[in-house]
Amino acid sequence: KAKGLGKNQRCFYTEEMGVREVRRMELEKDLHRALELEEFFVVYQPKWNVKTDRLVGFEALIRWRHPRLGVVSPVEFIPIAEETGLIFPITRWALEQACRQCRAWQDRGIDQPVSVNLSVKLFYGEILYDLVESALNRAQLDGRLLELEITESMVLHDVNDVIRQLEQVRSLGVKVSMDDFGTGYSSIGLLDRIPLDALKLDSLFTNDLDTPSKRAIINAIVLMAENLKLEVIAEGVENKEHIDYLTGLGCHVMQGFYYGQPMDSEEINEWLNNRKSRTEGAEHSALTAA
Ligand code: C2E
Ligand code: MG
Ligand code: MG
Ligand code: MG
Repeated sequence: KAKGLGKNQRCFYTEEMGVREVRRMELEKDLHRALELEEFFVVYQPKWNVKTDRLVGFEALIRWRHPRLGVVSPVEFIPIAEETGLIFPITRWALEQACRQCRAWQDRGIDQPVSVNLSVKLFYGEILYDLVESALNRAQLDGRLLELEITESMVLHDVNDVIRQLEQVRSLGVKVSMDDFGTGYSSIGLLDRIPLDALKLDSLFTNDLDTPSKRAIINAIVLMAENLKLEVIAEGVENKEHIDYLTGLGCHVMQGFYYGQPMDSEEINEWLNNRKSRTEGAEHSALTAA
């Protein structure tokens, strides 16, 4: 009996893996032409400073509108892009889009930085500086309005090389933040060497704020960041409870569905207008930099 069940399960698994494998192969095949077919788009998620009650920037997040499979998440296709080398042209495109959008906002008086996610693969080869500089130039964007989000996995690459390349891009005025901090490979011993401006606390922490030990860890991270002159941004902020816990722990900059989902530029316009009307009558507009 047990043997029969095992056999059935094995069949089920094989089929399931088959479906996943077929999807992956289809995605990989189609990823090669996705750029020229203009199937990618970028959405933007606001970052909010609770203390000053002001918008402090946007994160650019890429999406792929697949003709047959619908919108595909970067969680699924970025790893394929990394394996196939397509991560380079895709990142070039994402950087340019984000810089152009940021410049368009600036032209309308919305002076907010935009951050772009960087795969660790971008540090292999001597291209990061040129990539960033040309994206800024093409968009006629000041480097101080661009931020790059890297992850702890870059410790897998030669750390001295990462530091050198980050210093190069920072000479353009570009800021650097450590994304998903506290979940990947430990980079804590390198925080005083890697040129950084901010730490982004992974949403796993935000989701676990009713656990005292997790609060202790966040508390320590915030204190450490203060001493290292790093800003802390909490990810995955979804409700008032999250905000109360995080502000209580000294973290004031937040990103998450509570403030806004990732939105296309039209939706961002609406979102900005809603914010504007809500702060109407206030001393300053929430939309202008503090
Ligand atoms: P990430 O950089 O940590 O981005 C945050 C992710 O959390 C986004 O998922 C966002 O939609 C999601 N999120 C934001 N607020 C909330 C919330 O309140 N609750 C929950 N449950 N989730 C929230 P997304 O857009 O699917 O991106 C996933 C990951 O894909 C990103 O994680 C980033 O590592 C990667 N990625 C996205 N765009 C790019 C890109 O242009 N290049 C590269 N290399 N990676 C990218
Ligand atoms: Mg990010
Ligand atoms: Mg993140
Ligand atoms: Mg995350």
